[in-house]
Amino acid sequence: MKVEVDEIHCQGHGLCQMTSPDVFGLRDEDGHSYVLPDGANPTHEKSARQAAAACPERAITVTSD
Ligand code: SF4
Repeated sequence: MKVEVDEIHCQGHGLCQMTSPDVFGLRDEDGHSYVLPDGANPTHEKSARQAAAACPERAITVTSD
């Protein structure tokens, strides 16, 4: 699985991290999202897709292998 956050479109709402804390973290400096080191583990796919659907900016892309 591949998980990407479009940094241009991410506005730091934080919904992804609330929805899927195993996949996403929020940067201290601007609150924008990043993918955690183990975030793309396939065991998190359902959660990652829920976060992608929850993102108001449609900034998250989840791709299956
Ligand atoms: S929900 Fe979307 S806009 Fe908000 S922090 Fe996550 S990726 Fe960024």
